[in-house]
Amino acid sequence: MACPNTTTDSFTLDKSAKIYVAGHRGLVGSALVRKLQTLGFTNLLLKSHSDLDLTNQSHVQNFFSTHKPDVVILAAAKVGGIHANNTYPADFITINLQIQTNVITSAFHHGVKKLFFLGSSCIYPKFAPQPIKEESLLTGPLEPTNEMYAIAKIAGIKMCQGYRIQYNWDAISAMPTNLYGPNDNFHPENSHVLPGLMRRFHEAKVLGKKEVVVWGTGAPLREFLHVDDLADAVVFLMEKYSGVEHVNVGSGVEVSIKELAELVKEVVGFEGELVWDTSKPDGTPRKLMDSSKLAGLGWVPKISLRDGLVDTYKWYLENVEQ
Ligand code: GDP
Repeated sequence: MACPNTTTDSFTLDKSAKIYVAGHRGLVGSALVRKLQTLGFTNLLLKSHSDLDLTNQSHVQNFFSTHKPDVVILAAAKVGGIHANNTYPADFITINLQIQTNVITSAFHHGVKKLFFLGSSCIYPKFAPQPIKEESLLTGPLEPTNEMYAIAKIAGIKMCQGYRIQYNWDAISAMPTNLYGPNDNFHPENSHVLPGLMRRFHEAKVLGKKEVVVWGTGAPLREFLHVDDLADAVVFLMEKYSGVEHVNVGSGVEVSIKELAELVKEVVGFEGELVWDTSKPDGTPRKLMDSSKLAGLGWVPKISLRDGLVDTYKWYLENVEQ
């Protein structure tokens, strides 16, 4: 059987195609819905958690046999920052394995033409050479603080590869770098660093506090991508890419957590001091992805970190604060 390897292959994403966006209320899913609607896609299939529990195999099978989507974008996952991953390891591995296994197998069995699986940059080994290339996958031990989530995501990539190799099914996957934007989780403890800090700086500003505590040493380096850029890349890859290997999606811009904290502080307008709580873990020391494969296909990000932060803070004020 022909096995498309790392080919690019045009797939016509018809404006009337029935597209199921799994996880449409989350950070990534909601950005995808905004993007697809802006582009004129009219037949989006959206189910909230209360209508369809993706961890329930028979419910997922029934959903696919009833609705028969043409295309699936799998953006539903249990996600969280360093603290949540450390605290709920059983949930992170089990729920993610359940969701992706149910959705991928049902999509395959019910004639979905193309499936897009979204992972995360934490699939790569803790000490992968930087910037991290796609081929670094499974070349070394993972960062322990998010190992459970990463193992589930690696299994998802491998399922897409397995179905492509065995059945020539058009399942592709992309690994975004650290994302942020509207509909992020702004929980004070369980969120990722960017929304967590935005909330803490905002609350400190409102309450007139003199200090804000930031976790770790501030030394770790991270790359951030606005979720609207990711949504743009997903639609681009959907139409332009068909291959066995996953594709990195990053901004190529690296900042230290200290630099990030200073920038968020400035955008929010908090005028007090930062206090570093070094009893909290730093996590992986550096996480910059090599997105040259995607750039080679012709896609580049458009939103700078500062503009993205301004946009996200505006959304926070209008939505979370209200
Ligand atoms: P990671 O990229 O998977 O490590 O996830 P996070 O976004 O949770 O953490 C990134 C880095 O930011 C780590 O070094 C954290 O210690 C640091 N950090 C600083 N303050 C915070 C905070 O308030 N919340 C989170 N989640 N991380 C923080």
